[in-house]
Amino acid sequence: TKESVKGFLRRNLFVLLTIAAVALGVMLGFALRPHNLTLRKIKYFAFPGELLMRMLQMLVLPLIISSLVTGISSLDSKASGKMGMRAVVYYMVTTLIAVFIGIVIVIVIKPGKGLRDSPVASSGTIEPVQAADAFLDLIRNMFPPNLVEACFKQYKTVYKKTIYTKNVTITLNLTDSLNATEAALAANMSRVLQTIQVGDTLVLLWISVNTVVETIPVSGSSNGVNALGLVVFSMCFGLVIGSMKQQGQALRDFFDCLNEAIMRLVAIIIWYAPVGILFLIAGKIVEMKNLAEVGGQLGMYTVSVIVGLLIHGLFVLPLFYFLVTRKNPYTFIAGLLQALITALGTSSSSATLPITFRCLEENNHVDKRVTRFILPVGATINMDGTALYEAVAAIFIAQVNDMELNFGQILTISITATAASIGAAGIPQAGLVTMVIVLTSVGLPTEDITLIIAVDWFLDRLRTTTNVLGDSLGAGIVEHLSRQELQSQDVEVGNSVIEE
Ligand code: ASP
Repeated sequence: TKESVKGFLRRNLFVLLTIAAVALGVMLGFALRPHNLTLRKIKYFAFPGELLMRMLQMLVLPLIISSLVTGISSLDSKASGKMGMRAVVYYMVTTLIAVFIGIVIVIVIKPGKGLRDSPVASSGTIEPVQAADAFLDLIRNMFPPNLVEACFKQYKTVYKKTIYTKNVTITLNLTDSLNATEAALAANMSRVLQTIQVGDTLVLLWISVNTVVETIPVSGSSNGVNALGLVVFSMCFGLVIGSMKQQGQALRDFFDCLNEAIMRLVAIIIWYAPVGILFLIAGKIVEMKNLAEVGGQLGMYTVSVIVGLLIHGLFVLPLFYFLVTRKNPYTFIAGLLQALITALGTSSSSATLPITFRCLEENNHVDKRVTRFILPVGATINMDGTALYEAVAAIFIAQVNDMELNFGQILTISITATAASIGAAGIPQAGLVTMVIVLTSVGLPTEDITLIIAVDWFLDRLRTTTNVLGDSLGAGIVEHLSRQELQSQDVEVGNSVIEE
C-alpha cells in the first residue's frame, strides 16, 4: 500500500542521511585538520554536535523511568519475572564471553611486552580495599536515598587518611653509655623532642617513626545520573502498580502517556540527528592530536581491543542471535544502523538510548513491551564492549609492568571487569574510571591508567557501539524467547475487553 511504501522510504531515508552524515563528517574533519584550528574555534565549529548530545541526554531520564514503569506494569509479574531472568542470563553470559575473548586476544598479541624498559616500582598508592568499596558502591547505588538527587548524583566512596603520631617518653640509664642521638636511632625514633637528665637517668621525649596511617572509606558523591538506582526504583514501582489492578490504572495511564510523548519528541529529534552526528564526527577528527599514538606505541593495544570488539560484535553476538531465533542477525543489525552510528558519534549508550528505541520498534518491529522493559536495563548494566576493554587494558598494564599473572589473577580480572562494566555509567569514558576496580583487585598500579588515556576517546566510541549492539540483540532474543508469555498476555487483554 501507499502507506507502507512511504514508511519504507522514510526509514531508508534516515539511514541514508545518517551514513551520508558520517561520510561528510569524516571528509570535513580531515579537510579542516591542516588549518590547525584553535581549541576554541573547534568548539564553536562542533557546536551543532554538542546540541544533539544535549537533546538526547534531555530525554534519557524521563525515557528510562516512563518506559520501565509502563513496560513492567503492563505485564503480569510472572511474565516480567521470566523476561527479566532471560535478559539477565543473556547479559551475564555475553559479558563473560566478551571478557574471555578480550583475555585470549591480549594474551596472544601481548601488546604490552617490552613497552617499558625497566619496570617502575609501584609508588605504594594501591589500596586493595578499593575493589570491595567499589562493589559496595554498586549495591548502594541501587538504593538511592533521594530520588531527585539520583537524577544527577551517584554515591561514591572517598577515602580519609588519618595519621597518628605517638609521643612517648622513654628513660635510659646513662650507664648504657649511649648518647641521646644514638639512643634515638636505636629506638627507631624520627625526632627527639626533648632530653632531660635526672640523676644518672636520661629521659627522652620522642615522636615515633612508626606512625600509624589508617585509610577509612567515608561517604561521598560524584556528579552524573545514578541510572542504576532509577532503574531499580522504576522496576519495583512498575511491578507494584501493575499488581494494583483497577486502582493503579491512573498511574499506568500516566506513565504510558509520558512514554508515548517522549517517543514523539524522539521522532522530532531524529530529524536533527544526521546534522549533529556530522559535526560530532568532524569536530573530533579536527581535534584529535594523537593520531600517531593510536598507531604508535599503543598501536598493538588499540588493535587488540578493536579485534576483540569486532569478533564479539560481528560474530559472537550475531551467532547467539541466530542460534536462539533462527533469523538472520545481519538483517536485524541493518535495522540498527542509525543507533550504532549514533553510539559511535556520542560515545554514550545512554544518550543513544532514544535512537535505539526507535530503531528496534520502528525498523525491527520488536514488541514494545519488550523494548520498554529490556532496553533501559540493558543500556545501564549490559556493556559487553566495556567489559572486554577493561580486561584487555588491565592485562596490557600488567604486561607493561612485566608482571606475570597467574590463573587466579586472570579469573579475578574477569570477575572485576564484569562488575566494572555493570558499574560504568553509559556516558563517555566511564569505563576508564571504573577500571580502578580491576587494577586494584590484582595489585596493578592505578596510575598506569595514564598510559592508555591517549587512545581512550577512540576505543570508547567502538566499545559503546558494541554495548548498544549487545543491548539491541538482547532485546530481540528476549522477545523471541518470551513469545508465549506475550501471546498469552494478548489473549488475556482480549478476554478482558470482551468481558467488559
Ligand atoms: N561510553 C561507554 C558507554 O556509554 C561506557 C564506557 O566508557 O565504557 O557505553
